[in-house]
Amino acid sequence: MNENYYDIAIIGAGASGLMLAANLDMEGSRGIVLEGSSCIGSKLLMSGGGHCNITHGGSIKDFVYAYGSEGQALRRCLYRHNNLELARWLTGQGVELADENGEPVDPSYGSNGMDSAGRIFPASMKSRDVLDALLGEASRNGWQIETDAKVSGLRKDDSWEITLINGYELWAKNVVIASGGITYPETGSDGSMLEIMDDLGIDINEPRPALAPVYVDNYPYSELSGISIPDVTVIAFSSDAACTCKGKAAKMKGDLLFTHEGLSGPVILNISKYTEPGELIRLCYNKELYELPKRMQRILRERSRGILGDVRTNVLALLLNQDDFTVSGVDKRGMVTAGGVSLDEVDMHTMRAKRFEGLYVIGEALDADGITGGYNLQLCWSTAATAADDLRKAE
Ligand SMILES: Cc1cc2nc3c(=O)[nH]c(=O)nc-3n(C[C@H](O)[C@H](O)[C@H](O)COP(=O)(O)OP(=O)(O)OC[C@H]3O[C@@H](n4cnc5c(N)ncnc54)[C@H](O)[C@@H]3O)c2cc1C
Repeated sequence: MNENYYDIAIIGAGASGLMLAANLDMEGSRGIVLEGSSCIGSKLLMSGGGHCNITHGGSIKDFVYAYGSEGQALRRCLYRHNNLELARWLTGQGVELADENGEPVDPSYGSNGMDSAGRIFPASMKSRDVLDALLGEASRNGWQIETDAKVSGLRKDDSWEITLINGYELWAKNVVIASGGITYPETGSDGSMLEIMDDLGIDINEPRPALAPVYVDNYPYSELSGISIPDVTVIAFSSDAACTCKGKAAKMKGDLLFTHEGLSGPVILNISKYTEPGELIRLCYNKELYELPKRMQRILRERSRGILGDVRTNVLALLLNQDDFTVSGVDKRGMVTAGGVSLDEVDMHTMRAKRFEGLYVIGEALDADGITGGYNLQLCWSTAATAADDLRKAE
């Protein structure tokens, strides 16, 4: 047997690649995980500020909306490998879980044990524990994991020929793309595999940052840095509608955070993929002036003054409901990537590429991304476990 031949090669040792390796016992066959960087699971380690918001409580039925227009396509794999399964797998590995208030979450009571949990974390609040559990199981399943193994070429012959950047070649019957998106390229997720797949002729929807802070022209709130306003409605208008304010690209409600440079907080992160420089973003605070922080009241009054220095109450009322800004930029360091391998290219029952035999795509490399709250790591688990089911059958 050719020592460079593998039954399955996973490209990328991030959350999704390792979740697949942890779900698939390679006894009797050969599996390799090729990681381009020198570190394994870098993005998983930084998830949730190092605490790792691994999934969300509640019924999996409610998850579908969290992925926007891609939610329906993901429904089947989310249902089949749901949040309860992920939570049970982790506790089975000795990783106890807790909600964001530190209250224990026990998935052995079924979904009831997780219903009101909201964001779910390892009880230790350490991403490392999740990574160690995945690595432990991947190793018990017989996977060989190679770092500094960046893939630079992929070609289909009888099997898949994989070329590494150092010129080394290997072959695999099945290849799983688990190479993530384009943000935080220093973690290794630099979009290089998306370019390779583009060259293969796979339809790639333009990747762009999502879950990112937004910057606006004439930002007046620098001095409010660190202040969070709850339940703010944010509307992103599409560019053709920016002048007329008619065509809304998206409308969301949630907590807004002022930073020194711009806007952040869950509602901004979640809406960021729907806006671009030059477009209009509207903040509706849904509050009376006196309900806002004192410093913000002062800034709003200043902004409402007429040329004679008087506060124009009609302008003030307008600012409370329609604080409009022109977007100057969306931070490139989004927590996730919107865009990627088009879901039309992938059979979502198996995660197989429809037009390329023996090729699978999972995790953030797909054109699917969720809002904040653990939905992106759940997506990694659901797509990885779905691919594992199919690869197990194919063995
Ligand atoms: C700061 C931050 C906080 C986050 N917090 C959360 C959170 O709390 N909850 C949540 O659900 N989600 C969170 N996310 C998102 C979540 O971490 C990602 O969606 C998830 O880790 C993606 O996993 P992945 O395996 O698909 O991709 P990645 O984790 O990006 O892994 C892809 C791997 O492939 C490797 N690779 C890429 N190209 C090649 C190549 N050519 N050859 C070989 N290897 C290659 C990369 O080096 C990388 O290791 C956060 C993200 C960030 C950046």
